[in-house]
Amino acid sequence: MADLQARLVEALGERHVSPGATDPDLQHDECLTVPPTAAALVVHPGCTADVAAVLRIAAEFRVPVTARGRGTGMSGAAVPRPDGVLVAFDRMDAVLEIDEGNHVAVVQPGVTLARLDEATRPVGLFYPVSPGEGSASLGGNVATNAGGMRAVRYGVTRHHVLGVEAVLVGGEVIRTGGRYVKTSSGYDLTQLIVGSEGTLALVTEVTLRLSPRTTHQATLLAPFPTFGAVTAAVPPIIASGVGPVILEYIDFLTMAAITANVDLDLGIPQQVKETAQAYLVVMLEQRDAGRLEEDVGRLGDQLTGLGATDVYVLPGGSAHRLIDAREKTFWVAKAAGANDIVDVVVPRAAMPEFLDQVRQIAEQHSSHVVGCGHAGDGNVHLGVFQPDPQVRHRLLHELFAVGHALGGAISGEHGIGQAKRHFFAELTDPTVLALLRRLKAAFDPDGILNPAVLFEETDA
Ligand SMILES: Cc1cc2nc3c(=O)[nH]c(=O)nc-3n(C[C@H](O)[C@H](O)[C@H](O)COP(=O)(O)OP(=O)(O)OC[C@H]3O[C@@H](n4cnc5c(N)ncnc54)[C@H](O)[C@@H]3O)c2cc1C
Repeated sequence: MADLQARLVEALGERHVSPGATDPDLQHDECLTVPPTAAALVVHPGCTADVAAVLRIAAEFRVPVTARGRGTGMSGAAVPRPDGVLVAFDRMDAVLEIDEGNHVAVVQPGVTLARLDEATRPVGLFYPVSPGEGSASLGGNVATNAGGMRAVRYGVTRHHVLGVEAVLVGGEVIRTGGRYVKTSSGYDLTQLIVGSEGTLALVTEVTLRLSPRTTHQATLLAPFPTFGAVTAAVPPIIASGVGPVILEYIDFLTMAAITANVDLDLGIPQQVKETAQAYLVVMLEQRDAGRLEEDVGRLGDQLTGLGATDVYVLPGGSAHRLIDAREKTFWVAKAAGANDIVDVVVPRAAMPEFLDQVRQIAEQHSSHVVGCGHAGDGNVHLGVFQPDPQVRHRLLHELFAVGHALGGAISGEHGIGQAKRHFFAELTDPTVLALLRRLKAAFDPDGILNPAVLFEETDA
């Protein structure tokens, strides 16, 4: 290890190489089930050449390498190995260019979502993908294919990544894609790297597609008397063509907890609250105030027709506070003692059946499973309260298996990481798993990039 440290110091300078034990913040992400681990060494590269040097040296020494953005991930994918090197991208945090003509931003991976939002605001553009944590980095977003509330209208990270610069194991630097929105030119390496959780290559620059900022927004809140009705309302709302920018469901327990957390009174009468099993939150946006008003009227009528007990058009301040409270759901669930958080995705029309089965599974295992979700995408975020790891594993296996059988996937946006790799191995078609392993081996023959992530270690 002393030789490795000496070589890294020679390449990056003493200030940018340190033992992993010195900074506890770099030993964990926000996953509830993967324990913190100190890397043998942490490096803070300042440029692509530094990253190339690190990967060259790591390949030579055959040590595991884990990339880290801001550590807000939910799957333990940024938790390093005790015998490995953690590559922290905090110094590579420049917005390199906002190209107004092409609606493109070029950023280094350590740029946060909040910083990109500041940089695009003055020119009337924005990066519309909004995973709930503004401190997350674009490198982390790319590696997890992050989603968030606005995916129902704008799509997820992969729909906005036009190209990347990435460093391969051994130190070669590649560029994929570019400032164009279509390509039919061979295998799409950009899209292969998006969502690969730091297992194929380290991303050192991202070219992102931007959108024009919209000016007029309205948020409707609709309580429903049953879970079935709230989730069954989603496909007709999408089919209406009203094009919601946010379409979330929140169960009554979660709504009570997240509004209490930020001391938010939405003015809902007590008798309505008492009969509500769950709520839909629908945000609409338009560039024209008149058209927005028409859409709000039409959607209000539709929600009533679909069984909402009432429909509230929230004043701007309350609407923003509710969205903010919803984004903080994770912290509320964590403070309440949730033992795990999952984000299964199913076809949106299958949500009523999925949630019904989740309730039965929870009951069978004497556990509590509550939550909310990006209903427009069929992406259900559930807080699982079951302290016994073995019971929880059985419960989660059944829950993921039901999602899978309904045509869904284990994770819609948080990723597999270390936390869900056992379930990934249990539920993925072995032929597909074998092909994924061959792809991994083509990029990383010695298996040094995030070896504990995605695959069972013996399978990697
Ligand atoms: C309160 C809260 C709410 C959240 N809400 C959402 C949500 O609604 N939707 C959603 O999708 N996510 C959500 N997240 C999860 C999180 O914000 C995302 O997973 C985010 O994309 C991770 O970014 P990061 O910079 O923190 O990455 P990290 O956690 O540091 O890393 C995540 C992964 O990216 C890899 N990585 C990081 N940088 C690079 C790089 N340069 N090259 C290659 N690999 C790299 C890491 O190795 C790891 O595999 C939420 C998190 C919190 C705490």
